[in-house]
Amino acid sequence: MMGMLARAGAELTRRAEDADIIVVNTCSFIESAQQESVNTILEMAGHKTGGKAKKLVVAGCLVERFRDQIRKDIPEVDAVVGTGELENILAATGVAPPASTRSDSPFVVLPSRPEGDARAAQGRFSREKWAQESWTGAVGDLPNYLYDDATPRILATPGHMAYIKIAEGCDHPCTFCIIPQLRGQFRSRRFESVVAEADRLAQSGVREITLIGQDTTCYGEDFGLKDGLALLLEKLAAIEDLRWVRFLYAYPNKITGKLLETIAQHEKICSYMDVPLQHASASVLKRMKRGGGADVFLRSIAKMRRMVPDLTLRTSFIVGFPGETEKEFEELCDFVREAKFDWMGAFAYSDQDGADAYGLDKKLSPREIERRRKHLMGIQRQISKKKKKALVGREFDLLLEGESEETELLLEGRTAMHAPEIDGKVFVNDFPEEIEPHPGQFYRCQITEAHDYDLVAKIL
Ligand code: SF4
Repeated sequence: MMGMLARAGAELTRRAEDADIIVVNTCSFIESAQQESVNTILEMAGHKTGGKAKKLVVAGCLVERFRDQIRKDIPEVDAVVGTGELENILAATGVAPPASTRSDSPFVVLPSRPEGDARAAQGRFSREKWAQESWTGAVGDLPNYLYDDATPRILATPGHMAYIKIAEGCDHPCTFCIIPQLRGQFRSRRFESVVAEADRLAQSGVREITLIGQDTTCYGEDFGLKDGLALLLEKLAAIEDLRWVRFLYAYPNKITGKLLETIAQHEKICSYMDVPLQHASASVLKRMKRGGGADVFLRSIAKMRRMVPDLTLRTSFIVGFPGETEKEFEELCDFVREAKFDWMGAFAYSDQDGADAYGLDKKLSPREIERRRKHLMGIQRQISKKKKKALVGREFDLLLEGESEETELLLEGRTAMHAPEIDGKVFVNDFPEEIEPHPGQFYRCQITEAHDYDLVAKIL
C-alpha cells in the first residue's frame, strides 16, 4: 500500500500528527490483536477530530472481519480496504482515481490447489454460515490478491533486511484459526517473481531476506511444483549480494528431506527452522485438526538436527485449547523438556467466533490458561538459559542493527540464530578501537555473556 501510494504521488510520514491522511493497517487474528487494532483506530481518530488529519482509512484483516461494524461504530473512518482489495487504497485515500480506471492491476487469480478445493467443499472458507449471526466482513468474497515483483514496494524495515511474502492464504483446517476466512485460499507467487524481487532488493542494499506466508512449506504446490520452497531457497542463495536467507512458519508434516538437505548445503540459507507445533498431545492436536503428537514430532526434530548441523529450532504452542486436561498439558510440558527448543513462544488460546473450536465445550477459564502459559514459559526459560550459556566463547557472524533499544551505551545485533523481531538479541559492549561499527554491516563476534534469552558479545 505504501508503494502504491508513493508511486501515485503521496508523501509518506511516520508521524501521525503530520499526516493529512492516516491509514491504519489492522490485524484480526485473535481477540487481543482486534482490541489493539481498534485502540489504534480510535487513537488515530483523535488526529482527525482534534488535529491536522482530514481522512482516516482502515485497512487489513479487521476489515475482512468487521467491515460494516467499523463503518457503523467509528464514524471518523472515511473508508475501509480489505486484504483482497489493496489497490483500492488509492481511491480510499483520494490519492489517485479508483482502481477500475487503471490498466496495471496487481490482482492475480491463480488456480487453487486440490486440497483447497476439498476444504472449500467442506465449508472451510465459507463466510455465509456466520453472516446471519456475527460475521460482518466481506461475505462470500474471499480475498485473492497477490502482489508481484512489479508491485511498487517501500520497505518498512531497516534497509539491510526485508520480508518477502511468497504465498498468501491457507488451506489447512486448524480448528482454532480464522486466517483462511480472512486471507483466502492458499496461492503461491510465481517463482520468477519472487526471485526478481529478491534480486532487486539485494541490489538496493538488502542483505537478509526472510520468506513469509501463512504456510511457506506449501510453496509451489498449487503450480504442481514439488519441493518448491527448497528450489526457491536454492535460487535465492545464488544471489551474490544476499548474505542470509531464511523462512518462517513451516508446517510440521511438510518438511521434506530435500528441504533439510538444501538448508544444510547452502551457507547463505540460515540453519534455522520455525515450526509452529501448537501442541504435543495427540488428542489435543486431533481436536485442533492438525495431527501429529510428541513421538512423531520428536522423531522429526531428531531428523532435522541430524540433517542440519547446528540447527536453531523455534516453535510456538497454544495452551488452554478447549478441553485440554491437566494430563494433556503435562504431556506438552514433558515434550518441551525433551525437545529443548532454542526459541519457543506460548500463546493463550483465544476463542474466535467463526473458528470451529468456538463451538467446542469444556472451555478453560482465562486464569487457568494463563497459569498454564506461565508454567510452560518457565520450563522453556530454564532450557533457554542453559542453551545460551553453552554459546559463551563461541564465534559468530553478527548483523549489527544499531544502538540498543534498552540503553544507548550498548549496540545490538543478531546472528543467524536470531530471526528478525521475534527472537532474543545480542548486545555488543566491546569492539576494537580501529572499528567504527555501522548498522547493517556484518562483523565477526565472540559471545562473552549469556542471559535467559539474550546474549552479550564483543566484536573481534
Ligand atoms: S496452518 Fe496456520 S494459518 Fe493455516 S489454518 Fe493452521 S494455524 Fe491457521
